[in-house]
Amino acid sequence: QDTISALQAMDAAHHLHPFTDSADLAKRGTRVIERAEGVYIWDAKGNKLLDAMAGLWCVNVGYGRKSIADAAYAQLQTLPFYNNFFQCTHEPAIRLASKIASLAPGHMNRVFFTGSGSEANDTNLRMVRRYWDLKGMPSKKTIISRKNAYHGSTVAGASLGGMGFMHQQGDLPIPGIVHIDQPYWFGEGRDMSPEAFGIKTAQALEAKILELGEDKVAAFIAEPFQGAGGVIIPPDSYWNEIKRILEKYNILFILDEVISGFGRTGNWFAAQTLGLKPDLITIAKGMTSGYIPMGGVIVSDRVADVLISDGGEFAHGFTYSGHPVAAAVALENIRILEEERLVDKVRTDTGPYLQDRLQTLSAHPLVGEVRGMGMVGAIELVADKHSMVRFGSEISAGMLCREACIESGLVMRAVGDTMIISPPLCITRDEIDELIFKASQALSLTLEKIAA
Ligand code: PLP
Repeated sequence: QDTISALQAMDAAHHLHPFTDSADLAKRGTRVIERAEGVYIWDAKGNKLLDAMAGLWCVNVGYGRKSIADAAYAQLQTLPFYNNFFQCTHEPAIRLASKIASLAPGHMNRVFFTGSGSEANDTNLRMVRRYWDLKGMPSKKTIISRKNAYHGSTVAGASLGGMGFMHQQGDLPIPGIVHIDQPYWFGEGRDMSPEAFGIKTAQALEAKILELGEDKVAAFIAEPFQGAGGVIIPPDSYWNEIKRILEKYNILFILDEVISGFGRTGNWFAAQTLGLKPDLITIAKGMTSGYIPMGGVIVSDRVADVLISDGGEFAHGFTYSGHPVAAAVALENIRILEEERLVDKVRTDTGPYLQDRLQTLSAHPLVGEVRGMGMVGAIELVADKHSMVRFGSEISAGMLCREACIESGLVMRAVGDTMIISPPLCITRDEIDELIFKASQALSLTLEKIAA
């Protein structure tokens, strides 16, 4: 106990946490996480929690995989670091690029490695602009994104993202990035059918292209479902309309699969689940199951052919691009996903089971909507189930529910009053039952807390 208090005091004195109100943290205290196994984490006080968020949506193969640790150790001993700049390369990066190309949609055969998802989206911004420069259309520079999107925390990543509270800090977005409405039917579109709302929000893209002029627009960036925005899944009508518009105006399509990549929707990439044909795919998180930092961009032949054949150097890269230890970890992570058929299971077994079981929560008086796909889901909390009126911000229902989850032995994330789950892909049916039981317990506890 003394060690825990000492660690908490050191943390408060020296550690600035991301996305955290430090004054609030000092009041509430920090939870020191000590170890993890499978789908569970343990804090330093010995509390066991089912991690329904897979860390930050990333631990796809679950915790405690010794073979990943072994792969990292072996690579650390043979070649702990070398770069892939200046005509150098190494086997782990070569094998990983080739493996990812084999899993990606057929028209995508090359990978540019980064250290994170944010760096990968910075790379996208520079890559699409270079593509149009090389094509002799340098005026095509603007990137259209969506409100409430999350594309990372670097200056370009946060600018591409559509979160107002992030833009307010640091005078963002940078020029050349604009945002259109998001396809959030439950939050913003219930006065029309989901189908009509899907078309309407997709057509906001066309309106923006016409407003700017198609000769000014380089690319459209989108997550297959907005993750940090609240697991916002576009209505079925949305993507076909988006595809039509992108083709009509010759706009590149960046699909940010940092969360959805490596199996979460039941295919290696959501592009395959949704029948999309992106020009660039952003990857990170599940690429290494978060065991070590790594990200990248999967590049289509259309873009790669121009970058390569039109010559010149792409003056861009990171010290840790294709880091050999990270690449060895990613290869072992993918080997586990394949050997245990985890992606297939999400598509045919555990994914549908999770979605069925999640729907049982929709009967709860606090729940306005339950939605999800594959191994991801969201629960919308409402003050009145019949009118679907939401709680006022003074209630903080989402925060109360997040705390109630912890008391019930479960980690869920709250985005406003939307509760999010994104568990490890290795979760079993029994563990899904436990997750749903604990979530239901937490919802009832939340109701009590609100009433108190
Ligand atoms: N893109 C999406 C869709 C994300 O969810 C995230 C992180 O949550 C990022 C990009 C940024 O990735 P990173 O935190 O590795 O920089």
